[in-house]
Amino acid sequence: MGVNPESNSSGKKNFACDAMLGRLARWLRLLGYDTFYSSKVKDDELLDICLRKNFILLTRDLEVFKRAVSYSLNVKLLRENSFTEQFAEIVGDFGLDLKITPDGSRCPACNGLIRGVKKEEIRNKVPVNTLNSYDSFWICSNCNQVYWMGRMWRSMIQIVEKIKNRR
Ligand SMILES: [Zn+2]
Repeated sequence: MGVNPESNSSGKKNFACDAMLGRLARWLRLLGYDTFYSSKVKDDELLDICLRKNFILLTRDLEVFKRAVSYSLNVKLLRENSFTEQFAEIVGDFGLDLKITPDGSRCPACNGLIRGVKKEEIRNKVPVNTLNSYDSFWICSNCNQVYWMGRMWRSMIQIVEKIKNRR
């Protein structure tokens, strides 16, 4: 679920997030990192995926963390409650590339690759006022969701700038 066959082709790190880390998974995908996430995944399944695919596991669950360590997985236990702090910790620990450009992003919903599209192609897929307010649009090659630099991207850029300024 959500694991893309094009994994590894980018040479970027791949992540798997536990079921409590949906927002983090969406942001990692927006940053272009191949990220497994499912709200329904069982612990065993998650650990198995990480073992088979060599994904970095991010978890808030101490038991899952301990098991991952016993399997010698690359795992990070997130102790911070604030999302910004969790995100900053991962950015620092894994040296994440904070360039935000939708052209390098993955679909936050399904982890598919997204590509730029002309307005004409998505004319009937987005509300008229959105179509009139933005010039650039992207579409997921997997689930066909259309994206633009709306609220989600803007809030991410703000937090990324905050994190950069701390360094
Ligand atoms: Zn998608």
